[in-house]
Amino acid sequence: SKVPPIVLNNGVEMPQLGFGVWQVPNDEAERAVATALEAGYRSIDTAAIYGNEEGTGKAIAASGIPREEIFVTTKLWNSDQGYDETLRAFDTSLRRLGLEYVDLYLIHWPLPSRDRYVDTYKAFEKILADGRARAIGVSNFLPEHLERLIGETSVIPAVNQIELHPQLQQHQAREYHAEQGIATEAWSPLGQGRGLLEVPAIVAVAQKHGRTPAQVVLRWHVQTGNIVIPKSVTPSRIKENIEVFDFSLDDEDLAVFRALDEGRRLGPDPATFDMV
Ligand code: NAD
Repeated sequence: SKVPPIVLNNGVEMPQLGFGVWQVPNDEAERAVATALEAGYRSIDTAAIYGNEEGTGKAIAASGIPREEIFVTTKLWNSDQGYDETLRAFDTSLRRLGLEYVDLYLIHWPLPSRDRYVDTYKAFEKILADGRARAIGVSNFLPEHLERLIGETSVIPAVNQIELHPQLQQHQAREYHAEQGIATEAWSPLGQGRGLLEVPAIVAVAQKHGRTPAQVVLRWHVQTGNIVIPKSVTPSRIKENIEVFDFSLDDEDLAVFRALDEGRRLGPDPATFDMV
């Protein structure tokens, strides 16, 4: 494969770069995932709330690629938190995907105000023990949520998927994850294409390497050690975004990126987000 793996804390290998399908309608997701698999992606990131697990599953089935060569992530939506609710929601996700197991199952948001993520995660541990997920983890958990989870359950999350891009570098979270053996996965790695790719310093690094801004941003993630899941529905961009393993950023480039951190979120704050 074009994409090297990250070894998760339970020994399972996950491609360091995958394909995200947030905001892609079901039909279009089927086409986009098919294009991504053709381009060499072997990891797909969906979620129950995205409404495209079915299209994603269809593209995987139609690809003819052996199931064990594709790493599939889906996520439990907020309204399904709770032990029994989680087991039911997981069954529904598997059915929509048309799969017998997922590679990674994530709690989408902690919703600390509802206080259900510990019970939810206990259901995740059962799903893991039953072999219906190869790894389990969380998304949008702050270190305080992880600390509580680790104190009250037995399986350390394999992954925390958080908003992370050059303008929100998440140094503290990354450090905490590293101490705990949790892999950091970056969502909105391209800053949702909202201006990040036009930042002059990034454009300059791209020109220096004869690459696109998206490619140097993704290369920055790879060299930072993040798992990364860029989204695009444009075939040329889907292909472009995986071609980041044949060049390297140097120390000077990395210093340019380091200076771009503004600590500014594009998405909601996990401490207060409580949409169900
Ligand atoms: P992203 O940072 O991947 O940006 C995607 C946008 O960037 C595209 O819509 C397009 O406008 C632009 N783009 C993509 N490739 C480009 C290229 N080569 N050149 C120029 N522009 C390009 O944003 P995202 O979709 O928010 O995040 C990626 C994935 O992360 C999602 O699809 C989803 O799977 C995941 N995600 C998870 C959560 C969560 O709460 N866990 C939240 C948001 C996203």
